[in-house]
Amino acid sequence: MEIRCRCGDKCIRPISKTIKDIELFYKPCNDCKTEEIKKFSPLAEQINLDKINNYFGSCKCGKRHLDIVMSHVLKVMIDEGIKEKKSNLRNSCVPLLTPGYPTNFVPYLPKDSLVILSNEADKRCAETIVKEVGEVKGVLRGDVRKTVGIKDSDSNPHVYELLAGCDLRCDIIQTPYGVLGIYKYQREIHIEFPKIKPPKIEILEKALKNFDMPTVLDCTCGPGTLGITCLKAGARKVVFNDIWNPAIETTLINLEANGFSVKSSGSEDELIASGDKFEVYSTDIRELANCVDEKFDICIVDTFPGVDTIEFVEAASKLGKKVVVI
Ligand SMILES: [Zn+2]
Ligand SMILES: [Zn+2]
Repeated sequence: MEIRCRCGDKCIRPISKTIKDIELFYKPCNDCKTEEIKKFSPLAEQINLDKINNYFGSCKCGKRHLDIVMSHVLKVMIDEGIKEKKSNLRNSCVPLLTPGYPTNFVPYLPKDSLVILSNEADKRCAETIVKEVGEVKGVLRGDVRKTVGIKDSDSNPHVYELLAGCDLRCDIIQTPYGVLGIYKYQREIHIEFPKIKPPKIEILEKALKNFDMPTVLDCTCGPGTLGITCLKAGARKVVFNDIWNPAIETTLINLEANGFSVKSSGSEDELIASGDKFEVYSTDIRELANCVDEKFDICIVDTFPGVDTIEFVEAASKLGKKVVVI
């Protein structure tokens, strides 16, 4: 299946195989400027805001310190009247790096490596940010404290609003079976701040150790992270399911991006796509038993944060021998 970003641009790229490559992506060159900016002091008192445009592309490596990039974003917001003149970096907006990985140094950003989340920006300001601040590929409006997605088929989804550019970004996940790149349209899939050892992967690893080439059902797969980890770990078969269409769309992207070829089912029913060792469904977990007629070794239940898992576990235990709640 050919995969393209919704924006039509080449946002989906091959994933670096090693963490070293990702770190190099964010490392400064020897000529990169360092500028200490105090996060709690007004930005305008620390640097000449008019000068900040000149920093873009000033180093031959094409990268800028994260704080300088965020200062540039804040400068546009001040110019557009969204932020007060005495604003500081601390309360400006949320930077979401792509690829997202917790480096142990302050990253220097190349072009198109940042999605901004702000609950104040308007369309005009967002368009100016994307145009003027080369590192920013997209601006979303939303509240970082509100989780994006859908709980179950009875509830309405919550999404952020894409104000400008493209919000597809990639999180780098380290697993014992290799490095994964998990793409997500950030307005529709909840934010997970990257960790060196993701706790969800550790729980899954413990469960996988008890089986040899298990069959796995990822009941609420989101962008596919856990199911793809199982494929990497050598699972005999993985069934992905999610009621949230944007989750399924990104699961398909992530299967392809991580080396698992996807064939679209071409039908209107719940089976969306399949591949060598996997199937992808989109239905309510309570309905899934009507679609699959096998008992899985492991059922993964990773629900929307804050949701009572009882109903999910009950539905999952009809489908699998071991239910792993993550
Ligand atoms: Zn895109
Ligand atoms: Zn440089």
